[in-house]
Amino acid sequence: MGLLGQAWNGLTDLVLPGTCAGCGAGVPGSLCPNCVAVLDGLRPHPVRPTPAPAGLPSCVALGAYDGVLREVLLAYKERGRHVLARSLGDWLATAIAAGVRQAGYPQETPVLLVPVPDTVAAARERYGDHMRRLARRAVVRLNSTGWPAGLAAPVVTRPRADSVTLDAQNRVVEAARAFVPRPRELARMAAAVHRGAVVIPVDDILTTGGTLAALAARLRAGGLPVPAAVVLAATRRRSGPRPTAE
Ligand SMILES: [Zn+2]
Repeated sequence: MGLLGQAWNGLTDLVLPGTCAGCGAGVPGSLCPNCVAVLDGLRPHPVRPTPAPAGLPSCVALGAYDGVLREVLLAYKERGRHVLARSLGDWLATAIAAGVRQAGYPQETPVLLVPVPDTVAAARERYGDHMRRLARRAVVRLNSTGWPAGLAAPVVTRPRADSVTLDAQNRVVEAARAFVPRPRELARMAAAVHRGAVVIPVDDILTTGGTLAALAARLRAGGLPVPAAVVLAATRRRSGPRPTAE
């Protein structure tokens, strides 16, 4: 989509009665009550890709990457409907709370969220880093319930090779190369962890797990434990090798 298209989509959310990002129904806001109910009804659960890359933390997803959740994520991420960040960030907060419990930590353990950073080019194309915006909203949501939470940015992403041409293991290697550590931020986080905080990487969609495994490896190399990661959606993957005839 061109720049004008994206800017226009952003504008329509502000000034015109819109269409529901989940089902396309005409609604005053950006989501119809039915789609809100569908997403409110999702229960965060543990997910694991098969095969899982080495070093992937235990993961919790809000839901499967299909139906309303998939449509809303695509509208937010690829069609520039930034207004959805508020709702998606609130649902991300729900999944984070589940992830912390799943990892065996008590409710309201302070969390440091590490959104998987966009590359500079992707952030420019999307008018800002899309996961950072969601994580920022999740922090606000958690804080509003009295849960101590903050954002961290311990790595920056440099452009990576086209992952379509790489097998799973090389994808992890390439993803790790793409994350460049920021030592001062890692040191700040280590101090917070020392005081009891837990580090939680967050992403929108879990597919192979390569990105989160690579990010976790970078964090662990910086001395930070990574007990859990949280995503909004997980793709359903066929386990085992792909059949040759299909
Ligand atoms: Zn709808």
